[in-house]
Amino acid sequence: MSIQIKNLTHIYSEGMAYEAVALDDVNFQIEDGEFVGIIGHTGSGKSTLLQHLNGLLKPKTGSIIINGTDITNKNISLHEIRKKIGLVFQYPEYQLFEETIAKDVAFGPLNLGLSEEEVQERVKEAIGLVGMNYEELKDRSPFELSGGQKRRIAIAGVIAMRPEVLILDEPTAGLDPKSHKELLHMVYEIHKSQKNITILVSHNMRDIANFTDKVIVMDKGKAVLTGTPKEIFREREKLVEMGLSVPPATEILYQIREKGINIDTDALNIDEAVKSIVAALGEK
Ligand code: ADP
Ligand code: MG
Repeated sequence: MSIQIKNLTHIYSEGMAYEAVALDDVNFQIEDGEFVGIIGHTGSGKSTLLQHLNGLLKPKTGSIIINGTDITNKNISLHEIRKKIGLVFQYPEYQLFEETIAKDVAFGPLNLGLSEEEVQERVKEAIGLVGMNYEELKDRSPFELSGGQKRRIAIAGVIAMRPEVLILDEPTAGLDPKSHKELLHMVYEIHKSQKNITILVSHNMRDIANFTDKVIVMDKGKAVLTGTPKEIFREREKLVEMGLSVPPATEILYQIREKGINIDTDALNIDEAVKSIVAALGEK
């Protein structure tokens, strides 16, 4: 599985007074098995981009080639796209609607036309993968759950479709620190076990540094930087200009350097930062 985005442009309300160029000649490529982070200031086009990836929006120009097939082609059925590409919207828990948790998670796989048996197996597996207990929860209402648990169930509904590409739009928004951490680890574990492509939109630079193989930086509808987390977070000045930041551990090192101390600022987490600081101290 690979994804190629070529010259993608999207304009909302074209020709109207309030027209907005949300994507402006976006180009990038995603390889099989990659965990990709997308960062960018609010309004930079991240959600618009994600909605093109599962065919919800069609571009003005450009193409999205998934395994050699251009999904912007009018003859491609949305059904076929959705089988492969699972999109978890922001605040997905608002989309829970069934009377029981098992029925809610089963909704997507049932729409794929799978047998009742297959659906039940997938529902069980998906609820397990999001770290919850199927037997305990299957007949309960999703509305009895806490916010973080509801979100997990909503994500299970997408995972149950076994998408080859799992896309999550700011999945930790509004969660407490514990649920945030658990959810991200869960997404990472699913990525490892399913060997899917995972695409994560996040404002949390620590998560981006910890979990992704590749980062795409969006600014005013353009994909302005692409690289490994290390490469991207070397561009602190550019990121700050775009209203973004580097991970906290990296920021500390940059600030030490600004005090005139010779220190390596490449670290992305606390362990690496401690090594840099110890090395800098040793040089004195
Ligand atoms: P992000 O997810 O990075 O915050 P969006 O993709 O939501 O960015 O928005 C990109 C641009 O498109 C913004 O200028 C936003 O105001 C505009 N936009 C988003 N959705 C719509 C819409 N449904 N109608 C008109 N303009 C929109
Ligand atoms: Mg958004």
